[in-house]
Amino acid sequence: MPLYEYRCKDCGEVVEFRSSMAAKEEMAASLNCESCGSGNFTQVYSGFAVTQDPKTSSSTPPPMGGCPGGMCNLQ
Ligand SMILES: [Zn+2]
Repeated sequence: MPLYEYRCKDCGEVVEFRSSMAAKEEMAASLNCESCGSGNFTQVYSGFAVTQDPKTSSSTPPPMGGCPGGMCNLQ
């Protein structure tokens, strides 16, 4: 199952969980921040070049749909 990351809007705490696509929204809605108790989370798309070094992102694009480690069978 894919791994999702959500960040607390109030304190910045990041929570990760694995869920099916169908249950993702339900999981996200039930999240509670361990640090401040807030339920206000926004999804973090870590698979994209959000914090990636711009110098390397152009020469080494992230694998999209590739199967370098044979992990495709797990999904
Ligand atoms: Zn928080």
